[in-house]
Amino acid sequence: MSTELDWSNLSFGYIPTDYNVRCWYRNGKWGEIEVSSSEYVNMHMAATALHYGQEIFEGLKAFRGKDGKIRIFRLDANANRIIDSAKGIKMAPVPVELFREMAIKAVQLNARFVPPYGSGASLYIRPIELGMSAQIGVHPSSEYLFMIMVMPVGPYFKEGFKPTNICIMREFDRVAPKGTGRWKVGGNYAASLEAGERAHELGYSAVLYLDPKEKKYLDECGPANFFAIKNGRYITPASESILPSVTNNSLQQLARDMGIEVECRHIELDELNEIDEAGACGTAAVASPVAEIDDIDTGVKYVVAKDGQPGPITTKLYNKLRAVQLGEEPDVHGWNTIVEE
Ligand SMILES: *Cc1c(COP(=O)(O)O)cnc(C)c1O
Repeated sequence: MSTELDWSNLSFGYIPTDYNVRCWYRNGKWGEIEVSSSEYVNMHMAATALHYGQEIFEGLKAFRGKDGKIRIFRLDANANRIIDSAKGIKMAPVPVELFREMAIKAVQLNARFVPPYGSGASLYIRPIELGMSAQIGVHPSSEYLFMIMVMPVGPYFKEGFKPTNICIMREFDRVAPKGTGRWKVGGNYAASLEAGERAHELGYSAVLYLDPKEKKYLDECGPANFFAIKNGRYITPASESILPSVTNNSLQQLARDMGIEVECRHIELDELNEIDEAGACGTAAVASPVAEIDDIDTGVKYVVAKDGQPGPITTKLYNKLRAVQLGEEPDVHGWNTIVEE
């Protein structure tokens, strides 16, 4: 049974699907996988997730390929990353095998929501883990709920693959130098909301954060990593306060495959004068090209896309990654997990 949705006009937002999958960690071990059709979580009002932010998540996608098969992109990379996040804030790590099994199950159970090939839409997979023990004392929870929900989301670039403007703002940091920025923690997002809303009000699509210690180097764009093309090389910030984006990692590999050199290193703000292309990368958009970077505090404007068009290397990398996700090109790095229906 397929589903009648206007796939190409879906936005990135919550849509109920048929089932979600859940697993509890209690008495020092993970239990059985449960299938639920409830959209609610029944939790104790004293749960650590609610009081002390013991909450982590992931974001990945499944695609209907050219051959009609469903592919989940980089399942293992996301499974490994949520383990790092769990360890980072003292939660029980979800074993890779359990993560895999639950993600595949969530997609299979909701297969009718996987958008058709050619629609530009995909099935977004959102795993979350919550500290569930009722306690008011500040220490890690002893019980956890790990669950995976899925929902169809529309194509990111509805009006085409066009560059947008982003801004630099020094008034807010989203993370601390040796803080939780390297993990996918919900609290990092709470810390970015004020700056994000201000940026949107000023007409920017995102904030490009500077490193929180010296405010000298580039960090990342809120929920997306930053990359630039300089003299034909792919450059991206190395920083202890940014999240290792799976998309960024994939783009780096594709760049190397194309013979493009990759540099992961500190990028000073001034270097923005010397770049030829720039983009924000993440699961939602793959790569979102940047037109101009405005430094709100100094008034300096770094014009990246001089003709207002996405750069050639950004475009090539974007197309290549999409083609691998959709099964249009060989998956030479073994990034896709085919889901049996
Ligand atoms: C999820 C996320 C990204 C993007 O990571 P992908 O794995 O490419 O989706 C970038 N930065 C932050 C802070 C994130 O939470």
